Amino acid sequence: MIKITKSSIKEQLVETKNELEEMLTYPNDKLAGIIKEVGFECDLCGRCCTNEFNDHVFLLDKDTALLKKINPTVLKPAPYYEFCDQNGRFYVSGYALETKPDGSCIFLANGRCEIYDTRPNICRLYPYMLHYEADGDGNFGWRQISGLNEHGNYHADIDEDECSMIAADIKEYEAGNLNQKIEFLNAVEEYFKKNGLRHVRGIYDREMRRFKKGSEIEVLVFFGGKFEGVKMIRNFG
Ligand code: SF4
Repeated sequence: MIKITKSSIKEQLVETKNELEEMLTYPNDKLAGIIKEVGFECDLCGRCCTNEFNDHVFLLDKDTALLKKINPTVLKPAPYYEFCDQNGRFYVSGYALETKPDGSCIFLANGRCEIYDTRPNICRLYPYMLHYEADGDGNFGWRQISGLNEHGNYHADIDEDECSMIAADIKEYEAGNLNQKIEFLNAVEEYFKKNGLRHVRGIYDREMRRFKKGSEIEVLVFFGGKFEGVKMIRNFG
């Protein structure tokens, strides 16, 4: 069983590799069966495109590459930076989509997605997922549908071939997500070693407090196998 904890880079690498291995062994037909049984149907409420429902839209590198061409100002470092070195610089595994002051996605206009045909991978698959995570009581298990019974319609008759295709796409997405994290952890480990850096929890907390009060911080965002420096100032809007 996978146990997710905040630990050293090496331990996180082992945990993430285990998670990937276990996710890949999850049977496709079981996942397809759950999709069929749930029969989720989007009712275009648009709530999943707001932070009322989803904390942030994490982007895989291929989504980021596309969005950089469309409009790079829609990108921001994904929240919950993983590490902070002794010089106060943060490190995070990828970008997320910018939001408007009301918490809705930068691309949500009049309840519709402005980039629907080129929307990020996660938006195409949502609410389907394959995460191994704890419930409210701390019991770990697989979660396959996000926000079950909190949005959309259910018991729609989804074609079996389509269910199988969705199941395969979810596993491909989750593998991409975990592989991006593994590459990030390897890159941080190497970067720290090369530059005599280390993660310091106390500095992380101190810099985060400064950031929350309005000070500028620098975040190194992992993209395309490298780190991109982004200056961040908290938006109080
Ligand atoms: S990109 Fe489109 S589908 Fe994705 S969260 Fe934004 S508005 Fe919604």
